[in-house]
Amino acid sequence: MSRPSITSVLLDMGGVLLDMGNAAGMPVGALDWRGREALLREISERGGRCSLEELGSWLFGPWLQAYASRYEHRREAPVEPHLTRLRHEAGFRAWNRSLLRVWFRPYGEQVRPVPGAGEALRELRGQGFRLGLVSNVPLPGELYESLLSRHGLREPFEVLCFSYDEGVRKPSPALPRRALVALGAQPAEAVMVGDRRDADVTAGRLAGTRTVWVRSERRDGPEPDAVIGSVAELPELLGRWR
Ligand SMILES: [Mg+2]
Repeated sequence: MSRPSITSVLLDMGGVLLDMGNAAGMPVGALDWRGREALLREISERGGRCSLEELGSWLFGPWLQAYASRYEHRREAPVEPHLTRLRHEAGFRAWNRSLLRVWFRPYGEQVRPVPGAGEALRELRGQGFRLGLVSNVPLPGELYESLLSRHGLREPFEVLCFSYDEGVRKPSPALPRRALVALGAQPAEAVMVGDRRDADVTAGRLAGTRTVWVRSERRDGPEPDAVIGSVAELPELLGRWR
């Protein structure tokens, strides 16, 4: 019996569509410090009182400690309670999400699209495939959605499923399953594409989709149905699978 033809494509983001600059997909090192300095200026402009050290002990220290146990808990560590503590301790008013955007901005400006990603997405849409994004991210999805928009990669997607917002991370099949439900697609007519076999190929297989691995250093994990060198090769591969 032949397998149903592919109608829907679920794509990972980091390493497939965007070069996130680091494995964490968030500000680290110098970009983290530039973000913290920008955040201190924002706090001061809003009448708050906070030193660099206090920023660490009210916000980043406790959040990053919780972040370190995300694998154990199989979900991202919420940053909101720590932003709320920062506002209370430093004595100023702001939206938590707007504070996050201030810290995230210097990092976000460095994130670049993978060459050929936009063309590949548009070609897939042109071939009639429906697209869903299925991404593990340590921060609210809106931060990453804005990066996709900036580089013209948001529009081809009908649904975005970010682990932070959905409360579950790949390799759990729950994340790809949510995208499939939103697309109204059966697992057998979908393919999961990602650069981590342990997260992306595992999640796709558990959800019952076919799997494509975008070759990377992250080679631990199950065998995919196909391997490509970059997302630019995906339209041709899926054209052959039809
Ligand atoms: Mg990835």
